[in-house]
Amino acid sequence: MAQLQDHICDVRSRISQAARKAGRSPEDITLVAVTKTVEADVINEAIRLGIKNIGENRVQEIRRKYEAIDHRQGGKWHLIGHLQTNKVKYIIDKVDLIHSVDSYRLAEEINKQAERSHKTMDILVQVNVSGEESKFGISAEQCHPLLTAIAPLPHIKVRGLMTMAPYADNPEQARPYFKRLKDLAIDIKTKKVDNINMDYLSMGMTGDFEVAIEEGANIVRIGTALFGKRSQI
Ligand SMILES: *Cc1c(COP(=O)(O)O)cnc(C)c1O
Repeated sequence: MAQLQDHICDVRSRISQAARKAGRSPEDITLVAVTKTVEADVINEAIRLGIKNIGENRVQEIRRKYEAIDHRQGGKWHLIGHLQTNKVKYIIDKVDLIHSVDSYRLAEEINKQAERSHKTMDILVQVNVSGEESKFGISAEQCHPLLTAIAPLPHIKVRGLMTMAPYADNPEQARPYFKRLKDLAIDIKTKKVDNINMDYLSMGMTGDFEVAIEEGANIVRIGTALFGKRSQI
């Protein structure tokens, strides 16, 4: 576990460095530790070592591990992967931010389930900036219309945007996609839609988080650099 501590330390200092390089404060950047395929005992160790935000990409994995996690530290849970409408009910009471909203139908279901649970759910809209077919998310062009449609839903609060850049060996290749998401967020801000804010830009993973921070990310989602390589995703 000493290794996990070293990894957390290393990732935090890389985040700080990237933030300073961009003239931003390291405290403004939230590290979401992505724990897919990581077992509950290791997640609890990460929490003991100061991790406050946990990201999972599958509903079934959240459900499986949730009970075994130490919730006394008041950590936040993030759903970062594709969410099917019929599974919203399983996670509505467990997660604090859903990063992957990509349709009105899904937003409507989140709104309905949130109302049943007497809460308001914070969400991000996932944008497929690169247009890669293998990626979930709406196109940049669909973003404003979708936000306008979601805005009146009373049990949802849109807090920003999320994207995944295409996989590349060189993180510089991700830069234009991060820049586009940032520009899109600025554009949406200037349009001032009620109930829509752009507090969060969730972008950057192990291979490209420093570039993402330089381009304005304030949530980074990091798995491999903390927990090592996954055998399967
Ligand atoms: C797995 C995953 C990550 C983390 O990826 P790493 O390369 O392991 O840091 C981030 N975001 C999403 C949506 C993921 O599914």
